[in-house]
Amino acid sequence: MSEQLTIALSKGRIFDETLPLLAVAGIVPAEDPEQSRKLIIATNREQVRLVIVRATDVPTYVQYGAADLGIAGKDVLTEHGGEGLYQPLDLHIARCRMMVAVRQGFDYQAASQPGRRLRVATKYPDIAAAHFAAKGVHVDIIKLYGSMELAPLVGLSDAIVDLVSTGGTLKANRLEAVEHIADISSRLVVNKAALKTKYALLEPVIQAFARAVASDT
Ligand code: ATP
Ligand code: MG
Repeated sequence: MSEQLTIALSKGRIFDETLPLLAVAGIVPAEDPEQSRKLIIATNREQVRLVIVRATDVPTYVQYGAADLGIAGKDVLTEHGGEGLYQPLDLHIARCRMMVAVRQGFDYQAASQPGRRLRVATKYPDIAAAHFAAKGVHVDIIKLYGSMELAPLVGLSDAIVDLVSTGGTLKANRLEAVEHIADISSRLVVNKAALKTKYALLEPVIQAFARAVASDT
């Protein structure tokens, strides 16, 4: 069997925003993962296939070499730690901001003074812990897997650390952003070993992505 290139992607915005970049590399998926139940998707190129995984699992598949490359948000990569991953490119897609948010009218300044303890619900415990540690604010972190916006509304937490793009979800739930932690976008990640062993296959794809990003910014 000839050498294969496996690309790990998540469904939704990352898949949608990656399609044009793949096209520049001459790669067109044979199926739409939103329509298909298949987790392995063939492409127009015999040597290239896509695997569809949860956004948070992309770095893990690439780290262990189950995928040669992938696309993951900086949020996910920071939380993962980046071990075993080469990160050659910021693709400037899926852009948003990591923010601290609270109920409208909640006195965040007072609640985050030294000597107080702030309860923070988040899907990103490491990012949240590092942020508050750097500010010297004592926090109890509550790990959630989704719908963070609910936590302050029902008294699970004082604050949340979550991704915000338009702010529409916060507003709809009477929350407000009170602190900016980081600007987030998605990056290309490559398995470090594959970069050497599959260089001939990988290099043109990385170059095409770099061209697509350069022409877009
Ligand atoms: P699910 O929403 O199904 O639980 P998920 O949250 O893991 O899955 P997405 O919401 O598609 O998946 O997010 C995938 C990536 O897209 C995130 O890791 C982040 O980098 C980015 N992202 C998340 N929310 C936004 C947003 N509102 N605007 C832009 N990019 C975002
Ligand atoms: Mg989501």
